Amino acid sequence: MTPSLFPPALFAWYDRMRRPLPWRAPPGAPADPYHVLLSEIMLQQTTVGTVIPYFARFLERFPTLDALAAADETEVLALWSGLGYYARARNLWRAAREIAARGLFPRRTEELRALPGFGPYTAAAVAAIAFAEPIVPVDGNVRRVIARLHALDLAGPALDRRVRGIAEAAAAEPLFRARPGDGVQALFDLGAALCTPRAPLCLTCPLAPGCQARAQGLAEALPRPKPKLERPERFGLHFLVRDAEGRVLLRRRPASGLLGGLWELPGAPWRERAYRAEDAAHHAPLKARWRVLGEVRHGFTHFRLSLLILGAELSAFPRLGVSEDKEKTGEESALVPHAPESLARLPLSSVMRKCLALGGRLAQESGPAHRAAG
Ligand code: SF4
Repeated sequence: MTPSLFPPALFAWYDRMRRPLPWRAPPGAPADPYHVLLSEIMLQQTTVGTVIPYFARFLERFPTLDALAAADETEVLALWSGLGYYARARNLWRAAREIAARGLFPRRTEELRALPGFGPYTAAAVAAIAFAEPIVPVDGNVRRVIARLHALDLAGPALDRRVRGIAEAAAAEPLFRARPGDGVQALFDLGAALCTPRAPLCLTCPLAPGCQARAQGLAEALPRPKPKLERPERFGLHFLVRDAEGRVLLRRRPASGLLGGLWELPGAPWRERAYRAEDAAHHAPLKARWRVLGEVRHGFTHFRLSLLILGAELSAFPRLGVSEDKEKTGEESALVPHAPESLARLPLSSVMRKCLALGGRLAQESGPAHRAAG
């Protein structure tokens, strides 16, 4: 017999054990679509624990979708700083502007798919939770629960296809059609609390009576892991230069692409070969006695990054010309001095915050100096 993904026991368990997450409506109350939208975009590739304080900060500054739509993109990016995957912040802001311009929140999965940053999962999650559409969004938790419930001994695209098919069929189950938002969130909670990647707690699981992986002793072995891809390493060289007032020179990255629109220390393009301190001669933004401040390592989804950071202190910056934002040309902006107290409000990636933290070593007289022309 085909096991049910939404038996009565699942809803009974959810009614007792649901996580009191800040974006969730109280039991029986309708969800706020703006809260659902915000949380689902923040939760893409990020854990619940990390998202909670960001969600609170966003709601405090932008209590409504209209407030977010009326904001400046730079402020949205600054508030997002540290959460990573910054394309999400830009898409969130654009989606808010589109919805505000229409004056109506799209309700159906197909309409939501047309919004920036809305893939099949996010569109289905918002449609089910905020608008009670009977559709099952498949994230990592749901994929794992389905793979185990049906003992799917498959991997890769074959597993994904089977899981999608089962999720589509399960959307027709009567209890799910009566409570789609709760059904979806029950699966999220079940995957997070009981049907965990390692050591699933089958003894207390409401799906246990129908679970085929449990019956076959395969619960922990499924789903089969994807083969791990070795991430390539890339290297960069960046320059931390400070004047007597403690200001640092930064430039803005082009609007599109990785970390688009965020501020960074000036430097050389990231490449597959390591830089040496002597390379300052070709890449330094200005003339100074450069010292090695240290190395910063950071992991992105598709590659690992090692940055060599050189630093210098000047009594004053030379004339830098007018700051010009060249977003449209796809180039970095001109160099702009930023006072230390303004850095907290600036959209900066985690990796650049790590680089700036090396600034404390600037005053130390250690390591060979490298003179470079800018
Ligand atoms: S019985 Fe175990 S393996 Fe099956 S769904 Fe529940 S926790 Fe997961």
